[in-house]
Amino acid sequence: MALDFVYSQPVKIYFGEGTFAKLGEILDELGLQRCVIACGRHFAPTAQAMMEQDARITAVFGGVEQNPQLSGVIETTRLARETKADAVIGVGGGSSIDTAKFAAAIALGDGEALEYYRGEKPFPAERLTIIAVPTTAGTGSEVTQVSVVSHNTEKRTINNPVFMPKVAIVDPVLSSTVPPRTTMNTGLDAMAHALEGYWSKNHQPISDLMAIEAVRLILANLETAYTDGANMEARANMAYASLLGGLSFALPKTAACHACSYPLSEDYHLPHGEACAFTLDSFVRINADERLELLCRRVGLAGTEELAQKIAELKKLASLRSRLSDLGEVDLDKLAHDCAVHGLMANNPVKMDEAALRAMFEKLA
Ligand code: NAD
Repeated sequence: MALDFVYSQPVKIYFGEGTFAKLGEILDELGLQRCVIACGRHFAPTAQAMMEQDARITAVFGGVEQNPQLSGVIETTRLARETKADAVIGVGGGSSIDTAKFAAAIALGDGEALEYYRGEKPFPAERLTIIAVPTTAGTGSEVTQVSVVSHNTEKRTINNPVFMPKVAIVDPVLSSTVPPRTTMNTGLDAMAHALEGYWSKNHQPISDLMAIEAVRLILANLETAYTDGANMEARANMAYASLLGGLSFALPKTAACHACSYPLSEDYHLPHGEACAFTLDSFVRINADERLELLCRRVGLAGTEELAQKIAELKKLASLRSRLSDLGEVDLDKLAHDCAVHGLMANNPVKMDEAALRAMFEKLA
């Protein structure tokens, strides 16, 4: 097949153990003087200490929750506007990074966060600099132009160049405190990014290469990162795999598995990674074709069935919910319908309509 693609990746990436200590130098290089940090509770005390030590950290919003709410964006935006910030630094999992991205994108506008969220107002032409510092190994949000934010029960993914970070600082040491279950959830999210970027209808050669390496690294390191969180080699390999996973879906976008993760998170409250993992082994089987067989051989597996089994074993190891009976009372008609109508479903290489999705979920009864 003739090669024909467009590839671009605008984020400057600093990767390595201890790299977060370079933040001051990076602020110098970018000429940033007034920065707001958005983070979750685990990092909030550190962020407060940073504010006391460096006058360029002017405010901290330390209350980002999982599946972050628009209220956190509103608060971060308020702080950015009040302190006349020139940058927002998201330190944390995807929830903190996505909150920082959204606040940076709207802080210089005159609208309300909800107006931008609902698409009633275009994003302002000018935005604040975004610095993304992942502390989980999962979302790859540090290299995507995506922000996923919830308003009440609605979880919305907005894909817009205004959310692209200028700099990503990926320091695996920051992920050493992630609890085991979150390590597994986020690691399988990274696996889902790599596989979905690879099998997305929009896949392309450079992204494919990164996807294959991400899958190889995750298969080789996720179990160790889960069982021995202090193992820095496994943490570093997972941080790298997560970055590669982000790069491998950034252009092709994700597909059916992520489409299904939205109803699973909204209606059954699964964390994002667990929601992606819920159907990941099913879609490995459904999407099995020659290309996926090739990926499996390149990562040292016999074929797609072995890949599906490995994913199922990882889920079992961490007791992730993986059957409908684990979700309580399930409205299967609604679940199949909501998955089928999600925009990302159209990227799946195998057409999945409501009946096909229902049949897939019935096998997970
Ligand atoms: P998260 O950010 O929700 O964090 C999970 C939990 O782990 C939180 O309680 C957090 O405070 C805690 N935590 C994070 N780092 C820690 C650390 N080092 N030590 C101890 N605790 C830590 O989880 P996530 O999976 O990284 O992000 C999920 C969110 O990202 C979802 O909303 C998902 O939809 C979104 N997402 C965004 C993109 C994107 O491209 N923007 C891609 C995939 C997922």
